[in-house]
Amino acid sequence: MISRRSFLSVAAASAMAPALRVAAQSAEWDSPVFDLHFHLRASGRANTAHLDGAGIAKANLLSRATAAEQVRAVQAEAPGRFVWFASADVTRPDSVEALTQAVKNGARGFGEMKYHAATNSAEFRRIYALAADLTVPILIHFQEVDHFENEGRWSPGFADAFESVLKAFPRTRFIGHADAFWANVSADYHNEAAYPSGPVKRGGLTDRLLGAYPNLYGDISANSGNNMLSRDPEFTRDFLRRHQDKLLFGSDCACTDGRGGGVGQANNPAASRLAGKCVARETLTLLKRSTTPEVFRKVTWDNAHRLLAIPPA
Ligand SMILES: [Zn+2]
Ligand SMILES: [Zn+2]
Repeated sequence: MISRRSFLSVAAASAMAPALRVAAQSAEWDSPVFDLHFHLRASGRANTAHLDGAGIAKANLLSRATAAEQVRAVQAEAPGRFVWFASADVTRPDSVEALTQAVKNGARGFGEMKYHAATNSAEFRRIYALAADLTVPILIHFQEVDHFENEGRWSPGFADAFESVLKAFPRTRFIGHADAFWANVSADYHNEAAYPSGPVKRGGLTDRLLGAYPNLYGDISANSGNNMLSRDPEFTRDFLRRHQDKLLFGSDCACTDGRGGGVGQANNPAASRLAGKCVARETLTLLKRSTTPEVFRKVTWDNAHRLLAIPPA
């Protein structure tokens, strides 16, 4: 649990100069934390409340491509704490224009890309090409198993087709995320559950792709990332060590206060293991006990700063 003293220092830090603020926000986790996967919230205060409550220094706001003005307002309220990614529906003809404009407006990547278009579809392929042309990474949600009836698959085809995409777009930097991406760390996975449990069978597809393709990164946010890291402590320690330059901490947390308030995973019963908890806190705690301080710092800070080209604080 956070101590009263470090809570106060984090809360007070919002008003400080950037260098001092990052130092104060490093207190709880011993080094500063960057949240790659944080969905933009309506009010500026709602955004910083989650960061302050979970002991997080900075976050990447996943926003619609048209949200540049709203993002600017949030950034102005909390200088130095937010960068952003833009998303647009790949099945719409104007998505290329919308994403291009968002990057001109300061977006550092595309995401979260969560659409009902196949991984290797023409619609997605033109966006992969655009990401390379604009030299920004693209964050994709891969999901094959419904969380509720008739949800439909998101970027379907990960297991069969994504390697051909990595080969065809070597200049595009992909960040994989969600159920199918992380379930496939285990070689025995065949879409039988959204979140498989139990020991990981070594040699899974996602593990192999992360090792083989310099243009692939992994976002360990959400129940999918937390579940993957929770299955098999021996695997997790080794996995973090081997991919220490490719993995990025993110929360994808919907709690209000950075302490698990106000959320119950109601529309995702399969993720009930995290109901009433802050995903950020759960995953940071898990990372802390699964790896060294050096690797922890890479996964929670350095890798994101490098990949998103964020100037050091
Ligand atoms: Zn997602
Ligand atoms: Zn939370």
